Amino acid sequence: MFSEKFNNFGYLLKFVYKNFVLSCYHFVMKTLKDYEKELSKCSKCGQCQVACPVYKLTKNDCTVSRGKFIMLHGVTQGELKLSKNINKYLDMCLKCGKCSDFCPAGIDALEIITCAKHEYMKTTIWGKFINFVQSKLVFSNIIKIGKLLFSHSVPLNKEIIHGKNDTRLSVMYFKGCVNQVLPDTDKYLKKIFEKSDIEIITPDFDCCGLPFLSEGNLERFEQSAKTNIANLNTSYDYLVTDCASCESTLLSYPKYFDCDIKQEKTLNWGDIIALKDLKFEFEKPIKVTFHKPCHLKNDSFFEKIIQNCTNVEYIKMDDYDQCCGFAGSFALKNRQLSKEISKNKALNIRNTDADYVITSCPACILGLKQGLFLTGNKKTKVLSLLEFLSFADRIY
Ligand code: SF4
Ligand code: SF4
Repeated sequence: MFSEKFNNFGYLLKFVYKNFVLSCYHFVMKTLKDYEKELSKCSKCGQCQVACPVYKLTKNDCTVSRGKFIMLHGVTQGELKLSKNINKYLDMCLKCGKCSDFCPAGIDALEIITCAKHEYMKTTIWGKFINFVQSKLVFSNIIKIGKLLFSHSVPLNKEIIHGKNDTRLSVMYFKGCVNQVLPDTDKYLKKIFEKSDIEIITPDFDCCGLPFLSEGNLERFEQSAKTNIANLNTSYDYLVTDCASCESTLLSYPKYFDCDIKQEKTLNWGDIIALKDLKFEFEKPIKVTFHKPCHLKNDSFFEKIIQNCTNVEYIKMDDYDQCCGFAGSFALKNRQLSKEISKNKALNIRNTDADYVITSCPACILGLKQGLFLTGNKKTKVLSLLEFLSFADRIY
């Protein structure tokens, strides 16, 4: 009786604390009008055209930041209406951020496109439907159904893997939605780290929020980000993902909220494997190549890991850091463009004659598979870095 009351009281305290922490992160929701000054910074220099994978194919200015900014500036001036046609061009974007990297004016294209998308979607019935599908209740149930259908292994929750007595790392693992549904990644992690001391903590994170940002659903983005930030309000050595898109979205939180997600402490599993200096022995010789996801901030771990693999030859493909063409809903909304971009990628893969193309993003795996299928490449298989390394005959 007492313990039941105590448990309930403990639960209540936890609930109050969590909601207090959540309320501390204030989100300032900007309107398109707030970006008027930013939009007028565009000098129309056209540098973004050189970087944009979509513009390279379409040669249509409306598909790259320069053209989008001209249209959106027209909207802020009341000269244009935020129409279905403008929304079509907002959707013709891979959210790769390459235009911003090249922009001499330093304009954050993704932030502006997201805001414009938010303003457009809130006025449409389709937008209301998307918001319903992405609501916490519906979205989390879709993930639960996915888990029931596809999960065949026991997922990691709080796992301490004891191995040789090296320094134990405490790792906060942000699985992301795909790995929630397909927890094979947990199996690969257990195999790779069975000889290392590592503590893997997986609290009840929400989605990173990228699908919500892409649809301009800023209210749902705020909800998911606040839950994740509250879960990160504890001590750990590194925050780790094996999805480049999740990583970049987590790192974008300080742009929207008064919070601190440290860049140097937010890593990919590849960085942790390189840090632990793990060695991988493959009995048969293998040729591999690597696709760098647009959202992966640093890929230096890959070559370090390959140097620690015996019998593995790495052939760097041309444009290894160019987009795979998938980019979530982009592939659904722009089928032909998505296919063209992934075909170009697949031609570069074919030139390496690799047995495996390795990457660090579940969405890129789909884009790479699409390209290999469209170019009839049956030889090269697509694998995540963790899956590939878990195939090693010996790990030490
Ligand atoms: S984010 Fe990428 S696809 Fe979108 S406009 Fe910029 S460069 Fe082009
Ligand atoms: S690079 Fe920047 S300043 Fe130049 S046209 Fe593109 S958005 Fe405008």
